[in-house]
Amino acid sequence: MSKLTTWLACGLVALAPAAGGAVLDRLLGTTALFTLAGCALGALYLVGTFGATTPVFGRVARVRGEPGRLALTFDDGPDPEFTPQISRQLAERGHRATFFVLGSRAREHPQVLRQIVADGHELASHGFDHGLLAFSLPRQVRAQLRTTEHAVVAATASPPVHLFRAPHGVRSPWLGRTVARAGYRLCGWTGRIFDTANPGVSTIVERARRQLRPGATLLLHDADGSGHGDDRRQTVEALPAILDEADRLGLRSVWLSSLLEPPALSVLDLEPLGSRGDSGRTHVGRAPQSGDGEPFASEEQQAQAHSD
Ligand SMILES: [Zn+2]
Repeated sequence: MSKLTTWLACGLVALAPAAGGAVLDRLLGTTALFTLAGCALGALYLVGTFGATTPVFGRVARVRGEPGRLALTFDDGPDPEFTPQISRQLAERGHRATFFVLGSRAREHPQVLRQIVADGHELASHGFDHGLLAFSLPRQVRAQLRTTEHAVVAATASPPVHLFRAPHGVRSPWLGRTVARAGYRLCGWTGRIFDTANPGVSTIVERARRQLRPGATLLLHDADGSGHGDDRRQTVEALPAILDEADRLGLRSVWLSSLLEPPALSVLDLEPLGSRGDSGRTHVGRAPQSGDGEPFASEEQQAQAHSD
């Protein structure tokens, strides 16, 4: 389902309760009572669907406000041109980041994934093909997670850290539960930079600067998830100034997984991602492995991953 079709379908779903309410009001002779209730329900649906960090459709993973720490995150990669530049810049400045990769791109550019890991960053999942999940069935969501996990394992011999960020942050009422039962944690952000619009290097820097604080999760992009091939040169060029400002504020970017509060879900609630071909490994309840970006890993482990 395309982006436009999804937006339209979501609008229709949101309108449906209001329309139903209007019919009820007419049948029962009530004065807009059910229409207003339907409008409220529709509005709630839209907030839950598009409010990536709202608790309407379930909470996203919570970040601890740790002094001097924040998480720079990059979505939609890997890109053979821009991702290595971003990864290298961060590593050289002593910052660690979380790359929410697409499985389809990971298959195309496994060497870039290996460089991300070698540079000390962690890999997380952004789904396979950047398809919007507003109407995806649980089995389709699981397939997105599974195929992406396979692509990362094929490239790096380790699964991604079990964090998932939905494309555009769009959710369905069941997405959070489906992701959690597959052993992944749904992630949002605190600061959206909108660098995909290529607004200019100085604008990207300024937007990021306003968001830099302890516990912040900044959403940036190292590639183009739309498939239009937009370049991320501006993001690459903005990064030094963003890191300068972070340094000035005494902030260091670390793995997002290391800033998250522990999950509430019991391991008993987990569902396997798939039978055959699945790595069979989840990060929940599993011992850390070298280069694996284990959730809740210490900074020493992050430093060790970098030095490996
Ligand atoms: Zn994306």
